[in-house]
Amino acid sequence: MSDDPQTNGTPTGAPKKRMNLRTPELTKLVQEQVESHYRSPVVEYLSHTKSSLSANGLTVKLAKAFGFCYGVERAINLAYASTKAYAGHNIYLLGEIIHNPEVNDQLRDMGIKQLKETRGVYDLDGLTEEDVVIVPAFGAEVKVLHRLKEIGCYQVDTTCGDVMSVWRRVRQYRDRGTTSIIHGKAWHEETKATVSQAVSDKGGTHYLVVFTLAETDYVCDYIRKGGNKEEFLKKFEGAYSLGFDPDQHLVSVGVANQTTMMKNETEEVQRRFEQAMADRYGRENLDQHFRKADTICGATQERQDALSDMLGHEKMNLLLVVGGYNSSNTSHLAEMGEAVLPTYFIKNSDKLISTTEISHYDQHKQQEVITHNWLPEGNVVVGITAGASCPNNLLEETIHRLYEFRGVNVESLLPADYREIVGLAPATEHAGH
Ligand code: SF4
Repeated sequence: MSDDPQTNGTPTGAPKKRMNLRTPELTKLVQEQVESHYRSPVVEYLSHTKSSLSANGLTVKLAKAFGFCYGVERAINLAYASTKAYAGHNIYLLGEIIHNPEVNDQLRDMGIKQLKETRGVYDLDGLTEEDVVIVPAFGAEVKVLHRLKEIGCYQVDTTCGDVMSVWRRVRQYRDRGTTSIIHGKAWHEETKATVSQAVSDKGGTHYLVVFTLAETDYVCDYIRKGGNKEEFLKKFEGAYSLGFDPDQHLVSVGVANQTTMMKNETEEVQRRFEQAMADRYGRENLDQHFRKADTICGATQERQDALSDMLGHEKMNLLLVVGGYNSSNTSHLAEMGEAVLPTYFIKNSDKLISTTEISHYDQHKQQEVITHNWLPEGNVVVGITAGASCPNNLLEETIHRLYEFRGVNVESLLPADYREIVGLAPATEHAGH
């Protein structure tokens, strides 16, 4: 957990108001509370022993890396600490702390209010010096950080260090007069915060967000041979800086990415831009026209690698991906699964309605859909993974639900000595084996 002073890309001047959220007493209290909310003995057992569970024909395998990342843990710890350190103050959150509905609901239950937002703009007008505002793990736009400073309220900044690394990179592009090309989702909070770092107060620096390879190719073609400016601007509406002109502002570009994109796709975006610039200006002049940075975060990479390994080496009938539907890194895990086997993206165990019905998020339709006969009878192997914003207790509930379908009490599958250590009740016989 950290509340270290750092500039965070906000203007220098009066320091942000803070309290120390890292005292030993607070840390202990927070740890106990976080554990009580999100802990899972079953998931911890599987994770530490790298083993799987098996009973009554049902085998459950967990990816080697899954769930809460260091950035999310830090953000949650800071938010929990704020409820203790700032007791008696109004505590507000800019949007969501992370993209997981259960965690956000938990914070609401602890008295943290969400600031009202209309079409991406937060209502900061009623805030006073005595109020506390939590900046989420994906950061906030420069203009919002400016305004909070002007108001003089307390700030609990949970912006992840990996997000700030991207900011540093785009500020370097900005300071060189290079247009930042961000591979990401223009509507995502992290990307909105990042692009706000790519432009200067004085103007003259720009950004463009590309999401797909098709969009990348469109821009690369424009770099090579020009095109219809009006059509370009219409196509990317909402994804470029004020005054952006593709005829002027694609001469020198630097590519960075939202931290939670698919690594291989980001690399492809970089490669295509590099090639387009080499075609247009000559490879010998590339230095003046092209820069790139790999800003996929370590945690996203680890989860993608672990799933890729699982998909390549484990025989599975289906995959469950657990996490918030607006979570970028989780949605990429679901995409990876879909390419290989039946995959169901669920936000919690309630979505496992019965052995014949599952409600899951369809990313193409952007809505939950019901699939029938999703769980085969007889011997079946279910793979499970979770995004970086998904707490272990949601995975545990999912595993419990799966075994309920086979009449098995999951805890009875854990070794007796482990059960004793973690304080679980003595085993009752499961119906399996
Ligand atoms: S997913 Fe990556 S960037 Fe986002 S909070 Fe976690 S570590 Fe930080």
